[in-house]
Amino acid sequence: MCFFKGLLLIRFDVYVVFGRENLSGKDIDYMEQKKCTPTSIGGQAVIEGIMMKGPTCMATAIRKADGSILVDKKESKSFIKKLKLNKIPILRGFLAFFESMFTGVKCLMFSAKECDLEEDTEQMSKFEKWLMEKFGDKLFDIFMYISVFVSLLLGIGLFMILPKLTVEWVSSLAGTQVHEGISVLIEGCIRMILFVCYMLLISRMKDIQRVFQYHGAEHKTIFAYEYGDELTVENVKKHTRFHPRCGTSFLVLVMIVSIIVFFFFVPPADNVWMKILWRIALLPVVAGISYELIKFAGKCNNAFTRMLSKPGVWLQHLTTKEPDDSMIEVAIEALKAVLPSDSSESTKW
Ligand SMILES: [Zn+2]
Repeated sequence: MCFFKGLLLIRFDVYVVFGRENLSGKDIDYMEQKKCTPTSIGGQAVIEGIMMKGPTCMATAIRKADGSILVDKKESKSFIKKLKLNKIPILRGFLAFFESMFTGVKCLMFSAKECDLEEDTEQMSKFEKWLMEKFGDKLFDIFMYISVFVSLLLGIGLFMILPKLTVEWVSSLAGTQVHEGISVLIEGCIRMILFVCYMLLISRMKDIQRVFQYHGAEHKTIFAYEYGDELTVENVKKHTRFHPRCGTSFLVLVMIVSIIVFFFFVPPADNVWMKILWRIALLPVVAGISYELIKFAGKCNNAFTRMLSKPGVWLQHLTTKEPDDSMIEVAIEALKAVLPSDSSESTKW
């Protein structure tokens, strides 16, 4: 049942898809305290495992049902770099966002497929078996596109349409017309509240709790590496699970930036659905600006950039949990697999 359980997780866990730290940035607070060298290593928690991304390759390490650790290493390909689109500000951010969504789901699908295959075939329902026979390996690709699409729909429905409709509904109940600027501010607050509630709700699911623990393991392991510690379970345990370079910070920034962008770009027509469509159309701009800001926050260390990364670190109280030793072992395997073997390929950025 693991495969479909995985799909369920993907469908409900917008966070896992979006909350990936592939955005390089200098470690802000911790850097000042010790000899921490920020790196371009990023990662993402998957089902019973972790994906790590190094300068040239990425690796997904999974804890199998029999207790062994499976490591799948691949060269990391980026169509943005290939097409040289990474030179165009804002557009590159939007494209990077989509690219990381697809690789993120791919890794999730891989982990769903591999985490306990033995149990999988025994407990498969007739419908699942029929699907597997009919589509074979293509089934995973089909589900990958469906899950990205459903995640996007869920994200837009929950975080774009619902806040706007709530404001409209309340204002019609009160019999007054809310000014568009004020509506944007209230919607922004509703969006934040919905996001926190959503996190609290999904973190009650047992499977998601384990994903959050793996997320914590990933941060701790990256920290241990950045502090130059030998990668052992004991060393990794000592580090904090709150990492300023986390994808959670990107999500928070998207929410803040969306308030500002929606405030200044007034919709062309005075109709609720037109206003919602207008906001959806502006999303690429919001994602692009947020990406530029997080890059800037990575390069500079000042009061403004410290402030930018703070809310993300607070939210990690929800999106990370303390891992157990077996999870740290998996994180170490994933990280070791992506470290460059020769000194010419540096992980420093
Ligand atoms: Zn993170």
